[in-house]
Amino acid sequence: MMATTHALLGMALALPVLAIAPELAPAAFVAGLAGGLAPDLDLYAGHRKTLHYPVYAALTAGLAAGLAVLVPSTATVALAVGLTAAAAHAATDAAGGGLELRPWLADSERAVYSHYHDRWIRPRRWVRYDGAPEDLALAAGAAAPLVVVADGPVAGAALALLAVSAVYVLLRKPLATVAERLARAVPAGLHPYVPERYRGV
Ligand SMILES: [Zn+2]
Repeated sequence: MMATTHALLGMALALPVLAIAPELAPAAFVAGLAGGLAPDLDLYAGHRKTLHYPVYAALTAGLAAGLAVLVPSTATVALAVGLTAAAAHAATDAAGGGLELRPWLADSERAVYSHYHDRWIRPRRWVRYDGAPEDLALAAGAAAPLVVVADGPVAGAALALLAVSAVYVLLRKPLATVAERLARAVPAGLHPYVPERYRGV
């Protein structure tokens, strides 16, 4: 799934906070955005493994949510929303395509690593690949309530993320070729730093 879809889903997780405790909502939206994006910081170092914890993040998010209910504050609510967004990110990666450069070819059986099971979870391909039309539909579905219900900056951020998503969807397939060519142009000494899927097959 696109990073922007994860970001929008993370922000949408803050909507209940807006309904229940609006004074805590700004921090919750920022935490949802950050938590939705954070797992993909492992893009260049063990992607979908180093910072993706489909089971442990869900357990931790559950504990944090309990704490936020018992002791509601900006910090506890932000922590709960951020961890829930990170857990949702790792879990929804399993609903998408595999780790390969061209996931629409469906030749990878690795969607996301479960540290709890100590193995890769296979891609379900309900969203066939990041940047697929159904990925954009999901992003739009998460953006819609944010635009309708939330304040100006949050609604604006949601629209901006949706616009970036739409451009990415249009460019997704050509971008794979561009990335591969760029990776080939990288000097040999730097190859270990180029993610495996960009090195071509
Ligand atoms: Zn991810």
